[in-house]
Amino acid sequence: MNQKHDIIVVGTGPAGLGFMINSQHACLVLEQESVTGGLMRSKNVDGYIFDWAGHIFFTGIPRIQTLVDNVMDSDFHYQNRESWVFSKDTYTRYPFQGNTHGLPVPVVKECLLGLIEATYSSTSPDPGNFHEWIHQTYGSGIARHFMIPYNKKLWACDLRDMDHHWLADRVPRPGLSDFIDGALGPGRKDLGPNACFGYPLTGGMQTFADRLMSMHSHRVCTEEKLVLVNPADRLVETSSGQTFSYNHLVLTSPLNETLAMTQGLPDELKEAGESLRYLSVLCVNVGIRRPKITEKHWIYFPESDFLFHRIFVQGNAAPQVCPDGCFSYIAEITYSNQKQVDFSTAGKKTVEGLVQAGLMREDDVVEVVDLIDIPTAYIIPTHNRLDIVRRIREWYADNNIHLVGRFAEWEYYNMDHSLDAGWRLAEDLNRK
Ligand SMILES: Cc1cc2nc3c(=O)[nH]c(=O)nc-3n(C[C@H](O)[C@H](O)[C@H](O)COP(=O)(O)OP(=O)(O)OC[C@H]3O[C@@H](n4cnc5c(N)ncnc54)[C@H](O)[C@@H]3O)c2cc1C
Repeated sequence: MNQKHDIIVVGTGPAGLGFMINSQHACLVLEQESVTGGLMRSKNVDGYIFDWAGHIFFTGIPRIQTLVDNVMDSDFHYQNRESWVFSKDTYTRYPFQGNTHGLPVPVVKECLLGLIEATYSSTSPDPGNFHEWIHQTYGSGIARHFMIPYNKKLWACDLRDMDHHWLADRVPRPGLSDFIDGALGPGRKDLGPNACFGYPLTGGMQTFADRLMSMHSHRVCTEEKLVLVNPADRLVETSSGQTFSYNHLVLTSPLNETLAMTQGLPDELKEAGESLRYLSVLCVNVGIRRPKITEKHWIYFPESDFLFHRIFVQGNAAPQVCPDGCFSYIAEITYSNQKQVDFSTAGKKTVEGLVQAGLMREDDVVEVVDLIDIPTAYIIPTHNRLDIVRRIREWYADNNIHLVGRFAEWEYYNMDHSLDAGWRLAEDLNRK
């Protein structure tokens, strides 16, 4: 039977949560999973808590920080980042471009000469793509020894196909003085936006999602996957065969999936949407019976000998995420049409990589090897995406359908951005 609602919200990740806690209208919320929280979810495997890929909290948005302070209070655990890069058999502090001390001297020299050349050369002010941006910003040495191999491994595409404006303040850009300090000795620990980060004391990032969930009283239906959107009749249908009609529809589902389930979408938008590209992430969660193996929080691996591009040291995210006397890691491995990953060997290769990087010993007792697949994990910031997404969002908005969040807006959002985007949309609709 068709049920009528003023606002239907699809998705209970940060964007949906930001909307729900700020909406003054009664909403019906549909979530395809059995657990709410989107990518803020965590799971417990034999006493080990693992997030849906490593998640830390930091924000430059004051009202989101206030929200976190209110909702988490002293249950949030703040730490100064211990973030590292492993290359050439050496650990150097993150960011690579500000901490080359300890690398072979010819590598440090090449990085320095490249940075000097890039700093004083008169290249065009706006590089045409991500590959050019790396060379113009850091020079050829840093590009060759870290930036290009790491980003090619992560993004699994030609970096010339990517825009660079999405980077904004995400990636630290130390000047020559910082570079020289970090080449001659231990460099600055506080470069970049997440030098201090928060994480729930217990229960993983899920605890934060659950606290936000408890702040509203909207009706939430889990295991209800949206499968059809009919803008002409303002109707949606779920996988259980239920139909609901709405006045406003708030979608946080991935844009490519939304396009595929929408009736009456103009062909030119359908075609434009097909050029949007994204990456998937396979997480290999490892639990080991040995306490506090490292002080590090996460480590970047630019070299191809390692299957993973990043290790999140889940065991150090907060004091209570592992059973007593144990430790844990999450290995993140991107895959896409252009880069295949064999799920059946990923666990074994991850454990071998951890041993090779000194993050565990061959004789360690491995208690857990668990996989989490995130099919839509990163949008690829291709050149044409902003214009395509703008046109698509305008068409949906004309039909009272609001696309909000990382995958709905096809933006490189963190949790705080998605929360804030949902929050702002609710403010807009509260005025209607
Ligand atoms: C590997 C990785 C690491 C990250 N690390 C960090 C970090 O350290 N810090 C940080 O701040 N951010 C991090 N992020 C980003 C963060 O996860 C996202 O910005 C945020 O979760 C996006 O929130 P969202 O609500 O927009 O989307 P989601 O969290 O994906 O929520 C969307 C929700 O919609 C539901 N849904 C989708 N389709 C349907 C459908 N058809 N029917 C019903 N329900 C549906 C989903 O199940 C989900 O619950 C990371 C992301 C990844 C991939």
